[in-house]
Amino acid sequence: MGLRTFIAGWPVYRQLTGTDPLGRGAAARSARSAALTARTETADSVARSVCPYCAVGCGQRVFVTDGRVTQIEGDPDSPISRGRLCPKGSASKSLVTSPLRQTKVRYRRPYATEWEDLDLDTAVDMIADRILAARAATWEDVDDAGRPLRRTLGISSLGGATLDNEENYLIKKLFTAMGALQIENQARI
Ligand code: SF4
Repeated sequence: MGLRTFIAGWPVYRQLTGTDPLGRGAAARSARSAALTARTETADSVARSVCPYCAVGCGQRVFVTDGRVTQIEGDPDSPISRGRLCPKGSASKSLVTSPLRQTKVRYRRPYATEWEDLDLDTAVDMIADRILAARAATWEDVDDAGRPLRRTLGISSLGGATLDNEENYLIKKLFTAMGALQIENQARI
């Protein structure tokens, strides 16, 4: 290979002398990169969604092949994020596909050192029992001057950022109806 051909193969040379001064197209392309295809290209369908991890609400495109999520990328049509995702949002495919994803209720009893699996009905019954007991023990009907309070400071809710709008709406309604005041979500933190 001659020196001229060698230098002409440098991306920076092509960028400075060619038609791609920003180096985002032909100047940056190599024989290998020209042969690559995007892993989204073989998807059967694309669903629009919103990143569940924080309150920014970046738009996502969810690529599906054979009924399985194969890739999640930023949605260029989103006026919020214009195609961008932060590292958390970029990794949200793992929320669906990671082998580390928890699919069972996990419980560690007081003073226990190990976690155990619980079936969902048992876990829901345990939560209901605790809420009823805490509410009964901490209910404040009126203040010292007899003014109505009708509240409890004994129960609160801290939602995770992967809860969607509809779940958060229902959680807020439920906890307010039970008299709780402390109702928050990680996405607002
Ligand atoms: S976690 Fe990142 S990608 Fe997801 S909504 Fe927030 S800023 Fe956007």
